[in-house]
Amino acid sequence: MTAHSVNYVIIVGPQGAGKGTQAAAVAPELGLEHVATGDLFRAILKTDSDLGDEVRHYYDQGALVPDELTVRVLFAHIQRMQESDPSISGVLLDGFPRNREQADALDSALEDRGEAISAVVLVDVPRDELMKRLTGRLICSECGATYHSEFNPPANGESCDVCGGSLYQRSDDTPEAVAQRLDIYYEQTEPILQHYREQDLLVEVDGNQEIDAVTREILQALRPRVNT
Ligand SMILES: [Zn+2]
Repeated sequence: MTAHSVNYVIIVGPQGAGKGTQAAAVAPELGLEHVATGDLFRAILKTDSDLGDEVRHYYDQGALVPDELTVRVLFAHIQRMQESDPSISGVLLDGFPRNREQADALDSALEDRGEAISAVVLVDVPRDELMKRLTGRLICSECGATYHSEFNPPANGESCDVCGGSLYQRSDDTPEAVAQRLDIYYEQTEPILQHYREQDLLVEVDGNQEIDAVTREILQALRPRVNT
């Protein structure tokens, strides 16, 4: 397989939309490897390579890894992936690009290689539904069991089913904290969605249905756009 036949599919969605679940479900169906950017960096940091050293340099300083370096780490990963499993048809990118600058960095690097993005999937869920999903989480202070006030409430409505411990809400899960994270997501993501929409690459999927139905919709939209 030549580098030119690699499929680059990007999956985008707000926290709580089920993007990770969907990525894991659809990637094997399309011969794609699900590549979460965090995992990519963790993997390269374990290697004894120049690229690993470059990434470590930023990590050690607590600095952000520059976009062009992220792209090089991605390409190095794809090369290793192709060498170890030639049946892989490409990557399903999860967590990159996250903003317009990263999208531009990826575009120009792909252009240099004579490659292009195959499709961008947006798994979307209305904001009020996301608020419901993300703010209802309750955790047992004794055993750590998790519940959801609406979707998975404790049987007696008050305390842990397992151990009877009291339940609390993490500060990250308060309505204010969730609203702030969603604001940042929309602010960063809208420009990249617009960018891909203009290139007719964007596939919008309703994430507010049964998990299997969402998976089917994504596969149906991607199959014609991915070379397997
Ligand atoms: Zn408990």
